[in-house]
Amino acid sequence: MNRIGYLEVIAGPMYCGKTEELIRQVKRATIGKKHVVVFKHAIDIRYGKEKEIHSHAGMTFASELIHHAKDILKTVTKNTDLVAIDEAQWFGEALVPVVETLLQQKKHVIVAGLAMTFDRQPFAPMPTLMSIADKVTKLSSVCSICGNDAVFHKRITKGKTVNALHTDPSLVAKFSDNVYVARCRACYKKK
Ligand code: ADP
Ligand code: MG
Ligand code: ZN
Repeated sequence: MNRIGYLEVIAGPMYCGKTEELIRQVKRATIGKKHVVVFKHAIDIRYGKEKEIHSHAGMTFASELIHHAKDILKTVTKNTDLVAIDEAQWFGEALVPVVETLLQQKKHVIVAGLAMTFDRQPFAPMPTLMSIADKVTKLSSVCSICGNDAVFHKRITKGKTVNALHTDPSLVAKFSDNVYVARCRACYKKK
């Protein structure tokens, strides 16, 4: 069989295990001797400026730090089998044509990112990527109040919107884990 492009999207709220799942798949691919490249946005400095992606439970994997979606195409080579992109929401809509190009190049692409903003709006470019994906893995977190499955995350302090982050690097300091909590449908509006 000829190899064809394949897109998997891993989506959900904060803490749902997107990065864990991405790292799990990337590690499996390396066991299979696949050539893997992992990307994260340079704006994501929650764990310092290291060239690694991090999960909340401490898993890590080496990654390229890039500023723009199109930087992905400069790094990927003919030999690359799997392209994995974490925190895809920071790249905005510009990521969509880049993913389309990778799929035309017959790459296996895994994109992980927030399905929604903290105020429950669809977070571009994830909805578009989910609609064109071969496979969508939608994960949920654990509600910080009742322990049910949480499909949302909520900001518990005041400030500017995180949606603006990919255009305004000065907001990065506000993107901190202790500011967001996972909430189920019943508890989203509770204090
Ligand atoms: P994401 O990339 O989706 O933000 P991570 O893969 O970084 O998620 O982290 C997932 C891990 O976070 C879980 O396995 C668990 O250990 C931890 N965790 C912390 N808070 C929560 C929560 N509210 N719900 C689920 N997992 C949580
Ligand atoms: Mg993550
Ligand atoms: Zn709840």
